[in-house]
Amino acid sequence: MIDLKKYEVWFVTGSQHLYGSETLKKVAEHSKEIAAFLDKSGEIPVKVVFKPVMKTPDEITCLCIEANTAKNCIGLITWCHTFSPSKMWINGLKILQKPILHLHTQYNRDLPWNEIDMDFMNLNQAAHGDREHGFIMTRMRIARKVVVGHWQEGEVQERIGVWMRAAAGWHDFQTMKIARFGDNMREVAVTEGDKVEAQIQFGLSVNGYGVGDIVKIINGVRESAIDNLVQEYGETYQIAADGKKNGPFHQNLRYQARIELGIRKFLEEGGFKGFTTTFEDLHGLAQLPGLASQRLMDAGYGFGAEGDWKHAALVRAMKVMGAGLKGGCSFMEDYTYHLDPKGMKVLGAHMLEICPSISDGKPRLEVHPLGIGGKEAPARLVFNVPSGPAINASLIDMGNRFRMIVNSVDCVKPDAALPNLPIARAIWVPQPDLKVGAASWIYAGGAHHTAFSQQVTAEFIEDFSEMAGIEYIHIGRDTRIPDLKRELRSNEVYYMLSGKRFI
Ligand code: MN
Repeated sequence: MIDLKKYEVWFVTGSQHLYGSETLKKVAEHSKEIAAFLDKSGEIPVKVVFKPVMKTPDEITCLCIEANTAKNCIGLITWCHTFSPSKMWINGLKILQKPILHLHTQYNRDLPWNEIDMDFMNLNQAAHGDREHGFIMTRMRIARKVVVGHWQEGEVQERIGVWMRAAAGWHDFQTMKIARFGDNMREVAVTEGDKVEAQIQFGLSVNGYGVGDIVKIINGVRESAIDNLVQEYGETYQIAADGKKNGPFHQNLRYQARIELGIRKFLEEGGFKGFTTTFEDLHGLAQLPGLASQRLMDAGYGFGAEGDWKHAALVRAMKVMGAGLKGGCSFMEDYTYHLDPKGMKVLGAHMLEICPSISDGKPRLEVHPLGIGGKEAPARLVFNVPSGPAINASLIDMGNRFRMIVNSVDCVKPDAALPNLPIARAIWVPQPDLKVGAASWIYAGGAHHTAFSQQVTAEFIEDFSEMAGIEYIHIGRDTRIPDLKRELRSNEVYYMLSGKRFI
C-alpha cells in the first residue's frame, strides 16, 4: 500500500553564466555525479533526479512551476557549487510549493593543500555560494532543512533520507482522506479540532459516515471470503483454543473478519487512507472493530479511536515516513503507570486497537469481553513490543494553530508476564524521565492518544512539522521544565505575530 520508490526528489544546482562554459560543464558533471550517488545510496528511499544547472531567473522560475505540478516530485534538494546570485531565485521560490532541503556540501571533500590554485577556488565556492542561497530563503521566510557535510558522508545521506521520508509523509498528508465512522466520543475535547482549518493548511480531508454505511457492507460480506481470511489468521497468528474452529468464540473471530473485509472495501472504494471509530456509536455492529482495526493499521491505514481523526492521519503519515524501516507504527494511548520511584514507566495500550507491526513476535489471537460499551466479546491480537527507542507524537488543535508534540521514549520489557491483560501493550520510559516527560507533555497539551513509532525518530517529525508549517515541541533527553514553559510562552507570541505559518 505504501511505495516510496514512486516518488522523486529533484537535485537542483544553482550557478550563473559568469563562470564561462568550461566551469559550468564541470558544475553539471559534478552535480550529476552527486545526484546519481545519492540515488543509489541505501539511506535514500526515493528517486533522486538530476536537473540541469540553473543559470538564469527564468530557468529557476520554470523549474519551480514544473516542480509544483509534477505529481511524484515531493521536494527539491538545492546546492550552489558556485555562486548563484539569489535575486535570480526570488520569483521561483515565491511560488514553489514543494519542500526544500538545502544541501551545503562541496564536490571535493578535502582541500588539495599542495595543488590548490585559482581554478579550484573558482569552482568550489559552496562555502560562500550557499550562504547567499541561505540568505534569500531566510529573507523570504522559507522553511527548509539545511544539511551540512560532504555528500559521501554516511551521516549526510542519513539526514537527507530522513527529510525525504518526512516529505513523502507530507505529500501523502496533503491528499489524505479520513473516514470517520460515527462522530467524536461525546464530551471529549482533545480528539476534536477544526477540520476545515486542517484541510486549508494540510489538504487533509475528514468526513463523517453513519455506522449504518459500513454495517450494510459488513453484513453483505460473503462467508467464503470470511473462510479465506480466517485461514490467513491461522497462518499469521497463534489462535487461542476457544477461538479455533468449533471453539465457543470462533464466531466472534469470524465476525471480526467480516468487519475487516467490510471496512477494507469501504476504504478502498472511497480512496481513504485512514479511519476512526467510536465505541459509543456502534449501532448495528455486534463488536467494536478490534482485530479488524489492528489488521487494517498493519496494512498501512491510519487509525484513531473515539473519532480521533488527527491521530488517524498522523499514524498514516508516520507509516509512510517509516515504510521499509525496521520496527512498526501504531495508534497508541498512555494508559496506566508504574510509579515506583526506582523505575517509573508507562504502560501504553488501547482498548484493543494497537497495530501488530510493533509486535515482538507472533501475536496471539484471543477473544475476551470488553467490559465497556455493552457489545459482544471482540477478537483482538495480544502481544508485547520490543525494547528500544521509540517516539510518541501527538497533533493537537490550539485554536489558532496546530501543535505537534513529540516525546522520545525508551521501550523496555514488562517486569512480569501480564497474564491477565488481554490486550497488546508497550512499556516505555519517557525521556528525560517519567516525571519531567509527563509534566512537559501535559504543559504542552499533548493528547492521551498518540502515534507511536519505532521506525522514525523525532527528527522525522520535526522535518514534517516544518513542511506542514506547524509548531513543533520535542520532549527529549535535554528537556527541562522551565525551558519548556518559556518555549511554550514565546511560541504563543510568535504565532500570534507571524500568523500560522512556521518560518
Ligand atoms: Mn482512547
